[in-house]
Parts: sequence; structure tokens; C-alpha cells
Amino acid sequence: MLKQKIKRLLIANRGEIAIRICRACTELGIRTVAIYSKEDISSYHRYKADESYLVGRGKNPIEAYLDIESIIEVAKAHHVDAIHPGYGFLSENADFARRCTEEGIIFVGPKSEHLTTFGDKAAAREAAVNAAIPVIPGSGGPVSSVDEVKAFGRTHGYPIIIKAVLGGGGRGMRIVRSAQGVDEAYARATSEAKQTFGKEDVYVEKYLDHPRHIEVQIMADQSGEIVHLYERDCSVQRRHQKVVEVAPSRGLGEKLRHDICNAAVRLMKSVNYLNAGTVEFLVTPSGEFYFIEVNPRVQVEHTITELITGIDIVSSQILIAEGYGLHEDPVLIPEQKDIRTYGYAIQCRVTTEDPSNQFMPDTGKIVAYRSGGGFGVRLDAGNAYTGSVITPYYDSLLVKLSTNARTFKSAAVKMLRNLKEFRIRGIKTNIPFLINVVQHPEFLEGNVSTTFIDTTPELFV
Ligand code: ADP
Repeated sequence: MLKQKIKRLLIANRGEIAIRICRACTELGIRTVAIYSKEDISSYHRYKADESYLVGRGKNPIEAYLDIESIIEVAKAHHVDAIHPGYGFLSENADFARRCTEEGIIFVGPKSEHLTTFGDKAAAREAAVNAAIPVIPGSGGPVSSVDEVKAFGRTHGYPIIIKAVLGGGGRGMRIVRSAQGVDEAYARATSEAKQTFGKEDVYVEKYLDHPRHIEVQIMADQSGEIVHLYERDCSVQRRHQKVVEVAPSRGLGEKLRHDICNAAVRLMKSVNYLNAGTVEFLVTPSGEFYFIEVNPRVQVEHTITELITGIDIVSSQILIAEGYGLHEDPVLIPEQKDIRTYGYAIQCRVTTEDPSNQFMPDTGKIVAYRSGGGFGVRLDAGNAYTGSVITPYYDSLLVKLSTNARTFKSAAVKMLRNLKEFRIRGIKTNIPFLINVVQHPEFLEGNVSTTFIDTTPELFV
């Protein structure tokens, strides 16, 4: 395979993931170029990079990072030869990937056609069906009326879930438990979809009770070689958003685990996938698994897979984009049969959300910041330091705390110790809530479903 050495890489993101990418580049000997909005003028990711440039003049704080032409302009002006989009923002934007390619800039990610397919939940579902992967009974494509939703409910029974076709981040979803609730849920789901994702299209599927969220990390190179790095269990969710992630999953059983990982590889092979991606499934208490979506990018929780496999996912992404094969030096991901995992890893998302005030994001200056550390502990932080100012403009993730140990119990003990070691003053965080989660007997038993948090009132302080 032809190699193209990346010399200068632009990171089209901010916060902890921008810093994570920066670190990978520095280790690979690549010069880093950061971008920032005017609100992020003193953000940490700016200073971590070798160079940084303002983008999205006149745009609002979020739109600055979505301003394709402004970002491309910076990339060209500063002779960048690759762009890593991180997660969120433009990471799943097929137009952005295409624009990069048009300008001769390497997009560190899959091909734009993968982003088109997997960005549309209905198209993704169709890809899964074509690869003979079980999908949740659903409308297939978008529904166009309340009556269509009701007809689905009559045929398949309640509960059902209405989802935005372009949805993400657990938003734009409504659970409906009976025909009476359809009118209101449909109106809300379509208006939320329009408002949040710019398109009101929704589709319907059967709502599964108490499933587990299991997702498989995939790595694929330009020659079509694809491996999985086993699974993560992201069932600990609050309102469909991940809070604590575990790798590997517990209590799934070897056969089911094997079947799920193989299904993920089969799907990605069927679309000739490229670079890192994640295939997400829901698993019922009786052990059936169903495809829900593909995230065609690096994920927030990639850290725990790195901890259990020893494989650097972000560096691998960059090397794959340069043209290296998965098993080639310096990527050196083993062949599938030789990929081993070590113990368990847990990640907690420490956010600036106040659990004593309905998880409202808190803002202001961090007047004191001290974190834990030690053996088997990993910290991936954004603007987390004494003196940092947390603004209201972006997501509330402050630092990802991950632990790794030979047994799940010791990884959990390590997590608890570290959560307790944090001293953060001047701003509220969700740490008191996370402490309750990681020492809850059901969590420690290891078989919680996606409804664990929402049905366990004692977790809320
Ligand atoms: P998003 O793209 O917004 O993250 P997903 O489709 O990945 O949305 O779903 C996020 C979460 O929502 C899942 O992990 C699960 O908890 C819940 N969910 C989604 N679809 C269903 C379903 N059909 N039945 C039960 N829970 C669901």
C-alpha cells in the first residue's frame, strides 16, 4: 500500500479529544495545528498544539467548529496535510470528509460514503439487514404520520420508541407505552428532531425492556483487513446518555460475545469500512442481540478498549490514514486470533453537571483542581486545572477517569478511590453521583441494563 507521511495535522475539535489527538501526533512526530472559536481563546487544547488559529469569525461558539470553509481555509493556509475530526462536530459530516479529499487533505476517518450511510439511521439499518445482522422490528424508513405510528403499535404491540433519523447523543427519542401517548410523542419527537438535527424525519421501532448496550470496536485498513478489539458495555446511562463504561462486558457469556463481535465485523466488511468505528447493539435479558447503529469515528469511551488491549486507537487511526496496514509496523495490531485483553477497565465521565440541581451544567472558574492518579489510572482531561474557566457554550465533559485492573472488583475499587481523591472547587461536578454509581451493589454485580440509573433513586444525591 502506498504511504503518505503526515507532517502537519489539523485537529478539527476542542476539549479532551483534541488534546488526546495532539498527544498521539506528538508521539508520531507530527506537527499539530489546533483551531479555536473566539470563546475558546484561552482553552487548553489551543496551547497543547504546536500552532492554533481562530475559525468561524462571526459565528456562534458551536458553529465556529462546524464552519467547514473556515477550517479548510486554515488548513490550506498553513499547509496541513491531514485533518482529524475527533468525535461530535464535523466528525460524521460526509460533506466535510469530501471537502478534505477535494483539497488533497487526508481525512482521518472512514470514506465519506460510510458517513452518509451511517449518519442516516434508516440507511444504517438497511446495511445491517443486508449483512444479515438482526435489527429491532421497526418501520425501516421514516414514518410520515401519526397514523403510521399507531399502525406500527397495533401490529407490533407497545412499548415503542420514536427516534430522529438523524439523531445522536441520546436526543430526539420518545418512548410510547400505549396508543394514547402516540399523538403527543410524535409531535414532540418531530419538533425536537427538527430543532436539534435540522430535519424532522423520525422512524419507529419496538422498545426493548431492560436491554444492555454492548458495542464493538472495529479497526479497518485500506486493504480491507478488519479486526474487532472486543466490546464495551455502556449500559450505565442517564436518559439514554452514557455515564460509565466497562470493557469487556461482564456476564455476556463467551458464545454471545463471540457472535456479537463477529456480527460487527461482518457488517463492516460488507460496506468495506475504513479506519476506526463502533458497531452498537442492544442485548435483551434473554440473550438476543440487535443492531442499533454505527458510530463511524473515534468514541469518547475508546480509552477503556485501549487499556484492556494495549492498542492505541488514535495513533492507529492516523497511521491507517497514512496507508499502513493493521498488522504492519508501526501499527502492529495483532491478527484477530492473537488480540488479547487484560482484566477490566472502567471509565467515568466526570462532567460539570450538578447532581443536586437536576444535572444542570455549572459554569465559572475552577479555583482549585486536584485529581487522583497512581497505578492503573488514566486521566483524559479538557479544561481541567486550577484557574480554568468553564463556559456554558460546549458539552459539560471535564475529565474522563479510567481505571484498569486484573479483576472488575479491583478496577471498581480503584475508580472509587480516584473519584474520592478529586478536589474540585469553584464548580459543581457529577462526582458525588458517580461515587454512588460505582459502589452500588447492582453495578458491582455487573449485570445492569440501560434502565439502571433511571430506576435507582438512591443514586441521586
Ligand atoms: P444515539 O445515536 O442518540 O446515541 P442510539 O440509537 O445509539 O441513539 O440509542 C441510544 C440509547 O437509547 C441506547 O443505548 C438505549 O439505551 C436506548 N435505545 C435506543 N433504541 C432503543 C430501543 N429500541 N429499545 C430500548 N432502548 C433503546
